[in-house]
Amino acid sequence: MRRILVAGNWKMNANQAMVSSLLSDIVAGSPDKVDVAVFPPAVYLSQAIAALQNTSIAVGGQNINANVSGAYTGEIAANMLVDIGCSMALVGHSERRTLFGETDQDVLAKVQAALAAQLTPVICIGETLEEREQGTTEQVIANQVNAVLEGLSSDQLAKCVWAYEPVWAIGTGKTATPDQAQQVHQFVRQLLAAKDAEVAQKVRILYGGSVNPQSAADLFAQADIDGGLVGGASLKAEQFLAICNSVNE
Ligand code: PEP
Repeated sequence: MRRILVAGNWKMNANQAMVSSLLSDIVAGSPDKVDVAVFPPAVYLSQAIAALQNTSIAVGGQNINANVSGAYTGEIAANMLVDIGCSMALVGHSERRTLFGETDQDVLAKVQAALAAQLTPVICIGETLEEREQGTTEQVIANQVNAVLEGLSSDQLAKCVWAYEPVWAIGTGKTATPDQAQQVHQFVRQLLAAKDAEVAQKVRILYGGSVNPQSAADLFAQADIDGGLVGGASLKAEQFLAICNSVNE
């Protein structure tokens, strides 16, 4: 049985006061029936970790560098996130792929770096609107997933979380329908199963793309959707908690 995970990607938003009030509301209201994680901007990670001490809410970085240390000005290594108390990291978010030119090979290198540091990578994949309209969604997803799978053992795959995030649904207010999302999630699980059928049944695949309190319950009820990666709605405690609470037990 896969437990639902609801993860909030704060992107480049928040300040110290907001971190404090958002997290105290989330701590007060998050239900036990789901796993919860937050991904604040790097400068607020330590504040978030302190605020979430003695809770089960996980904290993760939004990005890592694939190298362990060295002359990479401005970058953050996976072991640094672990050092301050993070347990997860987003890898290959579509904004990183599009705005910062991250390739599938970069994504694999970051996933390997995360795993080597004992950090759970949340590996983001998804097609653009153009690719969907051209009917190439499965090909695009297969390329993204297989590029990572090729570099992982079954044991490593078991330690990953995936997030299907259609690019056309991120920050646009357009959520994929539960059927559209389930179709891709099922396809992703088949790709994982080709590597290791048993592990594929245990790995969580989150959906991301304008998840809100209205759409969450139907999405999370799909057989292969194991939670959500939530952007905009994770910045408002009321909405984020409503998404967490929409999960059927
Ligand atoms: C995201 O940033 O991963 C995301 C899904 O954003 P939003 O929920 O705002 O579409």
